[in-house]
Amino acid sequence: MKTQPLQSIFTANPISVSADTPIIEVLRIMELRHISCVLAVDADARPVGIFTEQDVVALMAGSSDLSSVVMASVMHSPVFTLPADMDFRDAYRLMSARGYRHLAVVDALGRLTGIVSEGDFLHHLGLDYLVELKTVASAMDPTPLTLPEHASLADAARLLAERHASCVLVTRDQEPVGMLTERDMVLLARQGLNQAETELVTVMHAPIIGIDAATSLQAAIRQMENSGIRRLAVLDGRRLVGLITRHEIVNLLQGRFVEYLHETIEHQRLDLERIQQQDAQLQLQIHALNAAANAIVITDAEPRILWANAAFSTLTGYEVAEAIGRKPSELVASGKQDKAFYQHLWQTILAGDTWRGELINKRKDGSLYDEELTITPVRLGKDEREISHFIAVKQDISVRKAVERRLLASEAHFRLFYEHAPVAYESLDAAGYILEVNEEWLRQFGYSRDAVIGRHLSEFLAPGQEALLKARFENFLRENVIRKTEFDFLHGDGSIVTVAVDGLVDRDEQGNFQRTQCVLHNITARKQIEQELRYLATTDALTGLANRRHFLDQMRQALARHQRHGTPTALLMIDLDWFKRVNDQYGHAVGDEVLQYCARIIATHLRRNDLLGRLGGEEFAILLPDTDAHGACEFAERVRQLAANSPTTTRNGTILVTLSIGVTCFQGLDQDIDGILARSDQALYRAKNNGRNRVELEPPASS
Ligand code: GH3
Ligand code: MG
Ligand code: MG
Repeated sequence: MKTQPLQSIFTANPISVSADTPIIEVLRIMELRHISCVLAVDADARPVGIFTEQDVVALMAGSSDLSSVVMASVMHSPVFTLPADMDFRDAYRLMSARGYRHLAVVDALGRLTGIVSEGDFLHHLGLDYLVELKTVASAMDPTPLTLPEHASLADAARLLAERHASCVLVTRDQEPVGMLTERDMVLLARQGLNQAETELVTVMHAPIIGIDAATSLQAAIRQMENSGIRRLAVLDGRRLVGLITRHEIVNLLQGRFVEYLHETIEHQRLDLERIQQQDAQLQLQIHALNAAANAIVITDAEPRILWANAAFSTLTGYEVAEAIGRKPSELVASGKQDKAFYQHLWQTILAGDTWRGELINKRKDGSLYDEELTITPVRLGKDEREISHFIAVKQDISVRKAVERRLLASEAHFRLFYEHAPVAYESLDAAGYILEVNEEWLRQFGYSRDAVIGRHLSEFLAPGQEALLKARFENFLRENVIRKTEFDFLHGDGSIVTVAVDGLVDRDEQGNFQRTQCVLHNITARKQIEQELRYLATTDALTGLANRRHFLDQMRQALARHQRHGTPTALLMIDLDWFKRVNDQYGHAVGDEVLQYCARIIATHLRRNDLLGRLGGEEFAILLPDTDAHGACEFAERVRQLAANSPTTTRNGTILVTLSIGVTCFQGLDQDIDGILARSDQALYRAKNNGRNRVELEPPASS
């Protein structure tokens, strides 16, 4: 609350007299000037006494001859004075606490400069609102002094003095007809009437001004002011029910006022604390804003910059001081955004919404930078419907944008590469549905893009691959990687395309699956070559049987199985008898034909796991798993007989070739195949020596 000094409400240059002024003269002044008190001052204009209407009543009650009375003998001394610069509320508190109705206002030297009455306070205290709700009934004196109309002026003066009252009501037949007040006493005292012989009906103030008890105090005060009086009779019809005086109203309100004052002081204290707190908080916020990494700018509605933080300087190169008062566009606009861009921005913020966006701005040095900008309109002040400020938060995103641009460029490159790479790419979702494939994929497998996107990968695999795909795909998702894993795809033309898949699972920063990224190498041709090579490496070209190397490899594996499991295994070594003669007689080519024929007829007796190989020129061997010596000899005998009974029909006639066969079995002591081969050779050697076209066992059967 603003302080309001006494000098702003007082009556300046009040009527004052010297202390030796006759009281009759003082009374005349009071009547003439219509004032309720007169001050006495000394030669230096310092107040020395005060004489009020109340004193007049006391004076009249005490003495009838006023002619010899001077101011000094009846005035109150010392005078209650207060300095002119004191707040009038404080003054009122001090005055009312002492029960005074007037106070003299003095300057720094103690000289009288003004006077303040209770009425002045009533006007300035702003108490009007306090009296609004109160009625006359609450503030009236329900037992005012009354005297019948024929009572004397002396009776009235005595009664008023005794009761310290300011007025007496004059009645006729119990009804009020007039009033005699202190003020009237001032007038009457000066006239020097015979108080004892003067009847009230002749001097009373009439007619009486009355008011209803239910009237508000506010209305009562207004009526007193309009009529220039300070008292009203409270009437019920014509019947007197009380008296209400301005003084009493003020008194009534005084208590309320002190309360009000305390409240006010408390409010002021709280206001101050709040302001201090707000100030501290504001300081903290300003520190925080200044420390913020983002540039922050506060503008008015125009918008001119009112405040900016340190980061703004760093970002734009403008000192805060040179930015203040300028429009942001004057400082940082780069011309890189079009009119529509700014139109949309302004539409948004003028509608009261926050605008967010990215733009290119210009630094003081002319260099451009990417900025992420948020502008929030703010409504402050009395009319909160009007936007008063804008708060802009700016972040330099040059680095991010540069990275983004590079990424975009590299993504474009990648896409180009992806689409036109000579390698098939595919991307699947977590369930194995195809999200994307490149041109090469489509070319390689012979499908159109429409036939592929959104379909499950299994639809494009060769029959019987579903279980394999499921297992490998699950493993892929678990491991996040798949390496050189082969699948047989079904080409659009129905052929099988074998691919080796390499791939990764794309996951986001939280580890959530995004997609798979796989490269598919077509290895169909390679597989075929491999197969051929494998065939060539293991097969004898003339007969199509296992060649020597492959046969010996298989023998070694059979030996390992035999060593581990003890399964009986037999080896037959076969050599054609007198073959040199065939060559000599029919030629080498016919010899070859005979060799091929022999291979075929020997093979007719083989079981699934038996292996027939060509070990040398006209030497064959048979590996018989799960076969003991007896079984092997029987088998050898059957082969021998078959050959002996099956002449070869060649271009040069029929040729009969017999076989000598050496048989041996794998033994527990065999460390390698050499010993086994040696035993079979020994058996064969014996078969030759014993006449050929026969079977021999090594070691020989014990029987
Ligand atoms: P034996 O009963 O003692 O085995 O008499 P043989 O004439 O068969 O003698 P041997 O087994 O020592 O001779 C092998 C002959 O087989 C030598 C060679 O002329 C012939 N020969 C070896 N490889 C081939 C071949 O690939 N084609 C043809 N046509 N003849 C071959
Ligand atoms: Mg031979
Ligand atoms: Mg031979």
